[in-house]
Amino acid sequence: MIPASSRTDQTPDSSPRRTDSGIATRWQRELAEAVKSPRELVAALGLDPAVLPGALAADEVFRLRVPWSYVRRMRRGDPADPLLRQVLPVARELDEHPGYTGDPLGERAALRAPGLLHKYHGRVLLVTTPACAVHCRYCFRREFPYAEQTAGAPRWNEALEVIRNDASIEEVILSGGDPLSLSDARLAQLTDALARIPHVRRLRVHTRTPIVLPSRVDEGLERWLSRLPWPVVLVLHANHPNEIDADVRSACGRLRATGATLLNQSVLLAGVNDDAEVLAELSRRLFDCGVLPYYLHLLDRVRGAAHFEVDEERARRIAGELAASLPGYLVPRLAREVYGAPAKLSIAPIMP
Ligand code: SF4
Repeated sequence: MIPASSRTDQTPDSSPRRTDSGIATRWQRELAEAVKSPRELVAALGLDPAVLPGALAADEVFRLRVPWSYVRRMRRGDPADPLLRQVLPVARELDEHPGYTGDPLGERAALRAPGLLHKYHGRVLLVTTPACAVHCRYCFRREFPYAEQTAGAPRWNEALEVIRNDASIEEVILSGGDPLSLSDARLAQLTDALARIPHVRRLRVHTRTPIVLPSRVDEGLERWLSRLPWPVVLVLHANHPNEIDADVRSACGRLRATGATLLNQSVLLAGVNDDAEVLAELSRRLFDCGVLPYYLHLLDRVRGAAHFEVDEERARRIAGELAASLPGYLVPRLAREVYGAPAKLSIAPIMP
């Protein structure tokens, strides 16, 4: 069983964050109203209440959180719905599996300042907030020590100082949690500080929010993105074609109009998207939204997520089928992140 001490709630600030005017925006209200109880989710989808004891026990370790706009894309009464599987706590998360740990990527060792991870040459990653619009059950930062390791205001000065003093850093990646959980004012405060560091040449934002809470892409966010002084890459995170609805398409269109490059990374998840045709349809829908498929990650072996694992040989066969069915620009790179390696490791597909 997972020790109770690892219990995680990534969203300590779950009340609606306010704008400077003191009035919560639509996305902030939706975030505050997100589903946070397995009982509520099971009832809303008309699921068999027999799943509740396991869901409630796993929820004690890592809290459920999912916006209603994402719940509305799930099929009612279907416990195997691929979107539901990504968010509903299940009893299997409590089983221990050898090799599954709280820090599968060795991130604690890569910290150079609170919330500043330096794993690869030329780029650093800032853990800007513990908050996410959704809690993905396979998240490799389920047990990240956010309380001590968040480079959010007012504590990001130490991280900024490290970036300022290292001219080899030319790209900053805003991550979390999800950086788009921060208000536009907070984001601007951070990027204004980064803009004063001359060797920073690119900004990357890793975010799942436009997929799970598309109302986050509003005028304030567009304004922030349009005013940034660097080329911006937004790396979205969608795993299944059912996640892409009209609101997501419209959000992606607005993001593209700011001039940002849009990429997508997915995680290969058993029971969710371990099927070449599902992944092919995801690539097609992403491209319809102006988003290029970028990575298809093998699962990071975080405690509580073993039931999502797809073994490497099967993953390579799925990637081979995918490559055989799509033009090359729609095929994400199958990759695994390995602790201590100088880059993500690409994994060769096995062709059918
Ligand atoms: S949105 Fe990203 S950081 Fe947040 S829970 Fe999901 S995978 Fe983890």
